[in-house]
Amino acid sequence: MSKHIVVVGAGISGLSSAWKLAESGHHVTVTAKAFSPGITSNRAAAFWFPYHVRNDHRGMEWCRKSYTFFKERSMDPASGICIIPLIKAAKAGAGDEDTWIQYMPENRLRALAGAELPQGYAKAFEAHVPLIETQLFLPYLQQQLVEKGVSFVQREITDLDGISQEYDIVVNCSGLGARELCNDATLFAVKGQVALLEPGYPGHIFLDNQTPSYIVPRKDATIVGGTYEEHNYDAQTVEEDLQQVLAKAYHIMPALKERKIIGSWAGLRPFRQSVRLERESNIIHNYGHGGRGFTLSFGCAEEVASLV
Ligand SMILES: Cc1cc2nc3c(=O)[nH]c(=O)nc-3n(C[C@H](O)[C@H](O)[C@H](O)COP(=O)(O)OP(=O)(O)OC[C@H]3O[C@@H](n4cnc5c(N)ncnc54)[C@H](O)[C@@H]3O)c2cc1C
Repeated sequence: MSKHIVVVGAGISGLSSAWKLAESGHHVTVTAKAFSPGITSNRAAAFWFPYHVRNDHRGMEWCRKSYTFFKERSMDPASGICIIPLIKAAKAGAGDEDTWIQYMPENRLRALAGAELPQGYAKAFEAHVPLIETQLFLPYLQQQLVEKGVSFVQREITDLDGISQEYDIVVNCSGLGARELCNDATLFAVKGQVALLEPGYPGHIFLDNQTPSYIVPRKDATIVGGTYEEHNYDAQTVEEDLQQVLAKAYHIMPALKERKIIGSWAGLRPFRQSVRLERESNIIHNYGHGGRGFTLSFGCAEEVASLV
């Protein structure tokens, strides 16, 4: 039966939930304090990779379903999604695990050896993953939702129980906002900073998630990351940190030095040891995705729709 549902939050978790709910035939309103581009989801790199999901047995299905969704959408050039090679590298003795391989929905994986290994690395794999250009995909998704009949309202929610009186179901996708809305102290910020270089190089994503270092070629810029700063709530970039991030990247790919620095940004990942995805009365929570909000998004959204 069709229900009246409000989704609180217009980041990737809220928009993907709205998508799956609208597809299931519900009347959906997305209400949020802020919309793209002024939200964390616009600060993501954002490529599909299962960070930190080994702690959560539900993660494998969520990752795979999201991968499949993004792959299908990549057929539409307007979506801002493409499937691109990813080189995942690890230094000798870095304690890196290969558990992420099990999360790949397809066995399109190749171990690199000898001269193919990135400079300074002992082990590397090449995989193919979705790259989601947030500056294109988030407005695209919002437009598609409007066409599916979803409405958007700018409003700050201070009390979930209050809004739960107005709708059949509330879906709480408030990201870091859930710290206050749900009084959830297990949710905290992990700050990430990136530098932006002029676009056009390289032709693949590079990832070393131990240091951490990542290089992501978008159409508008090459993103060079990054930092992973637990409990840091300052969303401004720090010049010294950016210089360190760039130095690591220049060491891995010296050709990056030739490219002009065109900007930078910082974002606060909404981290929780495991994602909160559960139903409490007529409120369904879907928050705490940390550094893998895009990777988990449409899989989590499908589970949200199943809990209605
Ligand atoms: C530097 C960086 C790199 C990243 N790279 C990747 C990557 O490569 N791959 C990946 O999968 N993930 C990546 N992430 C993580 C990803 O960005 C997050 O997991 C994701 O954006 C979280 O989305 P969300 O919708 O849960 O939260 P948000 O995008 O923060 O959205 C929360 C929404 O809730 C609203 N809201 C909050 N409180 C209230 C309230 N009280 N009332 C009304 N509305 C409210 C906000 O206004 C907003 O609309 C990265 C993050 C950073 C910072």
